[in-house]
Amino acid sequence: MKHLMALARVGKPLSFLLTSLVLANCTTQMSSTQPSEWTLAIHGGAGVITKESMTPELEAAYHAALARSLEAGGEILANGGSSLDAVQAAIIIMEDDSLFNAGLGAVFTADGGHELDASIMSGVDRDAGAVAGVKRVRNPILAARAVMDKSRHVMFAGQGADDFAAAQGLDMVETSYFDTERRRQSLLKVLSKPVSELTVEERHGTVGAVAIDQSGNIAAGTSTGGMTAKMPGRVGDSPLIGAATYAQNGVCAVSATGHGEYFIRVGVAKTICTRVELLGEDIKTAAEHALGQVASLGGDGGVVLLGANGEVAYAFNSPGMYRGSITASATKTEIYGDSE
Ligand code: ASP
Repeated sequence: MKHLMALARVGKPLSFLLTSLVLANCTTQMSSTQPSEWTLAIHGGAGVITKESMTPELEAAYHAALARSLEAGGEILANGGSSLDAVQAAIIIMEDDSLFNAGLGAVFTADGGHELDASIMSGVDRDAGAVAGVKRVRNPILAARAVMDKSRHVMFAGQGADDFAAAQGLDMVETSYFDTERRRQSLLKVLSKPVSELTVEERHGTVGAVAIDQSGNIAAGTSTGGMTAKMPGRVGDSPLIGAATYAQNGVCAVSATGHGEYFIRVGVAKTICTRVELLGEDIKTAAEHALGQVASLGGDGGVVLLGANGEVAYAFNSPGMYRGSITASATKTEIYGDSE
């Protein structure tokens, strides 16, 4: 029998000391929620997000945007829709909001362009779709979904990916659609100072979602503009199944954000799910291990996680991560780590 459980956070987020050979002060923020009959959890990027670097207006805008994304996906799940559709709907809202580094708010490449990446995966049969380096499709997550549903392939890149999206009838835009003043300022800043001094808005801010529907099927998706001032042609972790995105029914779902080069090298999303599946670790422990590897290599970022029964957890080794979850009984959005 399905049961409605009040969603209560299990204690305050804990701080863990990670493998600290390289990042001596690196900690992982963790939090988790109990399962519900359906659940959606999202992230909008992890990084140096602190109260000091925020205005009350910007903070409120992020909470509101996260809530809109959660409501869009939550409505689908509440009406018996699929976790794939919910993940997609939640991501579209963030792609269409210039606050996030995905879709409309995509960062600039070093040569002043935009190259967007996205991926989506179904936990039912581990079917997946992804696009890398697209320049004209308004919602890359829809292109990733089309690759999954309408082609015999898993991943398209560059011109072929845009052409495929156009052939599927997706909304195509001029490249100038992705030009925003805020991101242009970030590019100028990045070109003039070390990457380590940049805030999350200036550096990254990928969006992602994981969900479980009323049939118990799970899904995950991730979408990004990449990293500010990336070299043209660079592909990060976001479109890579197993690096930023993974979903497997009965095991877990993951969407990641962070310094892609490290997430690719660790294979973060698949590492987490494999540890859950083969070692029997809970999702938080598995994520802590994978992020520990990222940290030990010198990278940072975070993940949103969903367990086989719909339990939600977040893990990030950066000061903050835009994030939130929705169930039949509660909606919650958060930005900072321990301080909240
Ligand atoms: N992971 C993304 C990338 O490396 C960036 C981010 O998550 O902010 O392209």
